[in-house]
Amino acid sequence: MLKKMPEKGSDWTDLKGEMIERGSGDAKWREGKTAVYVFNAGEDVAQVQKEAYTMYMSENGLGPLAFPSLKQMEDEVVGMGLALLNGNDQSTGTITSGGTDSITMAVKAARDFAFANKTIADQPNIVAPWSVHPAFDKAAKMMSLEVRRIPVADNLLADVNAMSEAIDGSTIMLVGSAPSFPYGLIDPIEELGALAKQKDVWLHVDACVGGYIAPFVRMNGVDIPPFDFEVDSVKSISADLHKYGYCAKGASTVFFRDEELYQYMIFDCDNWPGGRMITPTLAGTRPGGAISAAWAVMNYLGVEGYCSKHKQVTDARQAVETGVKQLGFDVLGSPQLGIIAFSHRHVNVFAIYKQMYKKGWFTSLTTEPKALHLMLSPIHKEVTSTYLDDLKASIEIVRAGNSDSVKEARYS
Ligand SMILES: *Cc1c(COP(=O)(O)O)cnc(C)c1O
Repeated sequence: MLKKMPEKGSDWTDLKGEMIERGSGDAKWREGKTAVYVFNAGEDVAQVQKEAYTMYMSENGLGPLAFPSLKQMEDEVVGMGLALLNGNDQSTGTITSGGTDSITMAVKAARDFAFANKTIADQPNIVAPWSVHPAFDKAAKMMSLEVRRIPVADNLLADVNAMSEAIDGSTIMLVGSAPSFPYGLIDPIEELGALAKQKDVWLHVDACVGGYIAPFVRMNGVDIPPFDFEVDSVKSISADLHKYGYCAKGASTVFFRDEELYQYMIFDCDNWPGGRMITPTLAGTRPGGAISAAWAVMNYLGVEGYCSKHKQVTDARQAVETGVKQLGFDVLGSPQLGIIAFSHRHVNVFAIYKQMYKKGWFTSLTTEPKALHLMLSPIHKEVTSTYLDDLKASIEIVRAGNSDSVKEARYS
């Protein structure tokens, strides 16, 4: 689809107006009516993100020697992440462009570690619960690996025995999520750790959506089971800054238990006319703004700030939990963080979803079981009663038979 570039440039004020206009049909996330794709931690955090991002927008994380400022900020962000996730003095990591980048690089490291340390006779494979994020399949596709998605247990968590049976001599990685995106539930990482140790396989914890909320929810007094480097066979962890870290988009972290494991991720090439080029992550050029905004938001909020923002999230989740149960829904498992999914025994949830969409709500769904899915932000604490009222009205519309259901839903 070609589009001719305008011959003459336009006035920025006009362009700005047009851009605002173009956004008018988008999901109403600023009002708290979106519970997927966007994390809304309030105006003050947004302002810090924006200003800190633009301060280093032109700088490039690819050149640590040119921009020691960014290198320092990255090291501090990684250090804070590692401290939250029970890393030790040997642990290390890097900022990546997002969860998919973090996961891809962890898979690459695990594969190269396996190639260097054991004999892999057949096509290498990854053993993961059915609920893991498709980023693992994308990474596997690029590296010609097989992903063995093992059905989850009745409690919707990783089925450790079934995963055990799926492991063979060519398994390069075992995965658990903390939590999984569809169910918002933390897999039994300690049991997966015991399995990884027994089978001598690399264990990766995908804490993309949990890594920057679970430690604070625990500090707030919730009994979160061990899920990070505290479990001693966990070799790598992915944790997204641009989700519950409330940082600007384009920022995640990937962590390794020690420097030796980390080295399997690094790409080092000098066979070209440009000289030696070392890139730890998938990206070449790395936006300085994503790094500086992450550093700024973490220091702006601090532990107290995150504890307080995340308390709003878990309060909102509890309010939704109580409310939807009264409306006849069954909450999937016992969510502890910011994601909640709920099915209905009598009413088609996809039809309810469509009614909610008409009322301006942009949320998500799960397919098995069929359930409504919310990924909550601090702002949602203010809108839970509106949400529940709309949900009640939507159920009544569907019950009255005045609707049809959505056939497809989009996922993040
Ligand atoms: C969001 C998410 C990812 C992928 O992260 P992106 O930043 O969207 O690439 C991976 N795993 C889980 C559990 C996620 O929630």
